[in-house]
Amino acid sequence: ISDAVVDKSGHSAATKAALDTSHFWMPFTDNKAFKSNPRIFASAEGMHYTSSDGTRILDATAGLWCVNAGHARREIADAVTRQIANLDYAPTFQLGHPLPFELASRLAGIMPDGLDRIFFTNSGSESADTALKMSLAYHRARGDTGRFRFVGRQRGYHGTNFGGTSVGGIGGNRSPFITQLWGVDHLSHTQGNAVRFQRGMQPGNEALADELESLIALHGGETIAAVIVEPVAGSTGVLIPPQGYLQRLRDITSKHGILLIFDEVITGFGRLGAATAAGHFGVTPDILTMAKGLTNGAIPMGAVAARTGIYDTVLDSVQSGIEFFHGYTYSGHPVASAAALATLKIYEDEGLFQRAAALAPVWEDAVHSLHDAPHVADIRNLGLVAGIELAPREGAPGARGTAAFQAAFESGLLIRTTGDIIAMSPPLIISEAQIEEITGKLRAILETLR
Ligand code: PMP
Repeated sequence: ISDAVVDKSGHSAATKAALDTSHFWMPFTDNKAFKSNPRIFASAEGMHYTSSDGTRILDATAGLWCVNAGHARREIADAVTRQIANLDYAPTFQLGHPLPFELASRLAGIMPDGLDRIFFTNSGSESADTALKMSLAYHRARGDTGRFRFVGRQRGYHGTNFGGTSVGGIGGNRSPFITQLWGVDHLSHTQGNAVRFQRGMQPGNEALADELESLIALHGGETIAAVIVEPVAGSTGVLIPPQGYLQRLRDITSKHGILLIFDEVITGFGRLGAATAAGHFGVTPDILTMAKGLTNGAIPMGAVAARTGIYDTVLDSVQSGIEFFHGYTYSGHPVASAAALATLKIYEDEGLFQRAAALAPVWEDAVHSLHDAPHVADIRNLGLVAGIELAPREGAPGARGTAAFQAAFESGLLIRTTGDIIAMSPPLIISEAQIEEITGKLRAILETLR
């Protein structure tokens, strides 16, 4: 292990040898295993990370689905530096500064029609909980106070705050914490009846959405505040809904006065080749959550877009005074706003959403070329996202996924695995040659995998 690696910022380069692992409690990590084999990034640029031992690693996951414009963008760095020097922080409770207003109008311009009001948060988790609270506040403002239930979906991921954990459908994220929101139900996830090795989105069992009608029959539609889904479930292994499914959810929720929330923390900002999945699919929710690609991952920031009518209703319900008792110290943070504005400018100037759409067929062919690689049980894709499901090793579910992740890292490729599913979501600046490099490396890895 070399001590010579110096990161670009001039901070002391944490080589593996020098790393003090005795204090940082790492999130979603096997902390004990990490200590014995730490993987440390020293710097990043464009499509690559450089690890602490100097290895270049091709980033097939855009960090954690967030670095859509590629790493270390100078324009964002400059905007952030200028902003800290000019106005580092300003509250937005009863006070303000121009940037979140400017950013909100830029965002409203790329949201589906009618989603015109933007609330700022610091993360996807906060966006999810904000969206849930917003829907309760809206119903209450209309005097429709009986609506307290939420409906999520199995294998849904909406972050780790209590609301998002509760509507999320991942047992491992819920069961350790015992207390959850009360009155939450889950629809089935959309993978069950899907055809294996399906390319893109296909017709399928759209009637899965009708489970919502069953819940409505069970509880009474007038008790349900909102349904929250990821248009394409990401974290649990890239689950593409059948054609027509999202529209059906939209129809049922509209019929019963239930709000529809799309969690677009992953699908937003070009991942599917459009600003939002809602735009891509032509289905407009009432509330849409974002984070990640909003600032290209460079500064924490999230946002929630709401239908104008939701905002108006909440405001009109109060004669004077605070209408929505919710917010964060850093809502609309000047530095995060500056980062987001610079990011949106890059997306637009470089046409990155269109680029993702144009590359999607190349990506599709490339990932599906792995259909005959060892252990591959299913492949699914849409836009610039893909899931490659490996057959589990007998008696050791997840082991093959972990081994694939480690082997990929050692061969200079960053992938993400959830159980035995490989998930990939490269920066939208990826070249065709790099797409080939990813699949070439993956094939080689799968061929050596036990
Ligand atoms: N919603 C979705 C759909 C996500 O994928 C994530 C993060 N992977 C979140 C919410 C939570 O975002 P954060 O980690 O920024 O809180």
